[in-house]
Amino acid sequence: MTTTTIRHHPSEATLLAYAAGTLPAALALVAATHLARCPVCRDMVAAAEAIGGTLLDSLSPAEMEVDVAAVDQVLERAGLPPAAPAPVLHPDLAPPLNRVRMGRWWPIGRGVRWRPLHVGGRAWAGLLLAQPGRSIPSHGHAGLELTCLLSGGFRDGGEEYAAGDVAEPVGEHDTPPVAIGAEPCLCVVGFEGMRFHGWLGLAQRLGRW
Ligand SMILES: [Zn+2]
Repeated sequence: MTTTTIRHHPSEATLLAYAAGTLPAALALVAATHLARCPVCRDMVAAAEAIGGTLLDSLSPAEMEVDVAAVDQVLERAGLPPAAPAPVLHPDLAPPLNRVRMGRWWPIGRGVRWRPLHVGGRAWAGLLLAQPGRSIPSHGHAGLELTCLLSGGFRDGGEEYAAGDVAEPVGEHDTPPVAIGAEPCLCVVGFEGMRFHGWLGLAQRLGRW
């Protein structure tokens, strides 16, 4: 995969939220998957983090004393060693997904499978694998949804997406996204408040994921 093929990036708002550490873990994982492949967005996040660090430096000591979160951020920015990285669980996947705990694959429609990722927090994430020509199950959004393609491609809303691209749809899909090309479409999806329709929605409500 070459970075020059990336044409679709997360929105500026999403990248800023990532830099500020305010994205839910599931969505941050998808953003990080894209950032690992996209120097353009890495530069934007680095610039945003630099601005955030300057703002923290401008706080008075009194303000720092009462803002535990800010102190944590300062410690982080001071370059203190992070906790030991999680072990590599999935050598077949590229970072950061290779260290994420996952459930089993579930069939969620004809030619479509879903594998939940165990990331915690108030949003959900999973791998979605769709055979060529198959549609992603019908669903609506009550919050942010972020998808990063790992291989293959799909078409959504008249746009085509390839490996490394990010789709950040707003509202309902006019038509379900469909896998295109000759190889299966594998992507990582993070979402808050997405509700599947039909029997898939029933499985979701039963807490299977
Ligand atoms: Zn990008």
